[in-house]
Amino acid sequence: MGEIIIAPTGKRAIRFGICQRCLSTNVRTFTCHHGSCAYCRNCLYLGRVCRCDYLEERDIATLAETTELTMPFELAPAQTRVASQLLTWWDERKTGLVHAVCGAGKTEMTFPVIERVVNEGKRVLIVSPRRDVAIEWVERLEHAFTVPVTRRYGGGEKASIGMITVVTAPLLMNLRHVFDYVLVDESDAFPFAFDVALWNTIRRAGRGVFLFITATPTMWQKTFPTIHLSRRYHGFDLPVPTLVKQSDERILDFCQRHISKPRLLFVPTKPDLERYEAQLRETGVTCRTVSADTEERLETLDWLQETKGVVLATSIWERGMTVRDVQVAVIESEHRLFTTRGLIQMAGRAGRKPDAPTGEVCFFYEERTFRQDQAIRAIKEANRR
Ligand SMILES: [Zn+2]
Ligand SMILES: [Zn+2]
Repeated sequence: MGEIIIAPTGKRAIRFGICQRCLSTNVRTFTCHHGSCAYCRNCLYLGRVCRCDYLEERDIATLAETTELTMPFELAPAQTRVASQLLTWWDERKTGLVHAVCGAGKTEMTFPVIERVVNEGKRVLIVSPRRDVAIEWVERLEHAFTVPVTRRYGGGEKASIGMITVVTAPLLMNLRHVFDYVLVDESDAFPFAFDVALWNTIRRAGRGVFLFITATPTMWQKTFPTIHLSRRYHGFDLPVPTLVKQSDERILDFCQRHISKPRLLFVPTKPDLERYEAQLRETGVTCRTVSADTEERLETLDWLQETKGVVLATSIWERGMTVRDVQVAVIESEHRLFTTRGLIQMAGRAGRKPDAPTGEVCFFYEERTFRQDQAIRAIKEANRR
């Protein structure tokens, strides 16, 4: 068990066109100092491995230690129910799925099971697909637990593995059989389920017991024992989107109707950002735009919250961001880039705070689609449970 490193002896790094470090087949031929060779492109950021390299496992786990847990707040009844189910699954060494709606307060309800795993001398891994979500996990864990939290993401330390580790998926690839309990948090980020190589590395890092937390489970994830956390922890329903035939006037009206609140308008593509920004500017509405290329995304988030302004965003913001009292619109909601899961996530941006639990969600459409209906149906269903 441990970390897979390049060593003078050991197993061949690339066998049968598969990288043995990250299990990717994204292998490309090139010329190394031995002549004609091949290297893996998928885990290049860990240092290049080519076919003439060898891999070895190095034990980098720290000594086991126990922890104390201080809960930051008392769990609501719905969260307590989930927390005790997680304890049962762990005792039975079962993989499970928490189907939690956006904003369900899922982090803290995992703390009791993390405490139990650690105090049994076992190691916990929390996998997040995104760095900002990983950082939030670390902050909350460090407040609650007395053991140090190992960070393995861009900018984090990587030398050893403690009792609790938080990782972004790419920095997991060279770990093997280290973690007794692997919590995959994709509730606020893109799901892993479609990436088989990535799932294989997650599985390989663990020792058989996994917990998935997601707002939008895949068919495959639904095959595991499931517990639903449908109500938000503050007890209010999810805002149900309304469908509105799209026109320039109606978009403007949406912006003016909520003039004293932050407003977030999703558009399908980057060119749309410019187009709608220009259109809004003509009518006297100033706004900022956010896409995957925007570097000052966090700053824009603060700006949106503080100035109660308008932000046009691509789906980069469909998960993982919380703005108090934000009002949400999806422009051209029929666009093929907006999946059902994406639409649910975008709607889930509204009403996330206990002191502002409601909000308007508006799907503007030029065409009605199955995906719009499916998203609305899923949200209504979650409210009924
Ligand atoms: Zn590789
Ligand atoms: Zn080589």
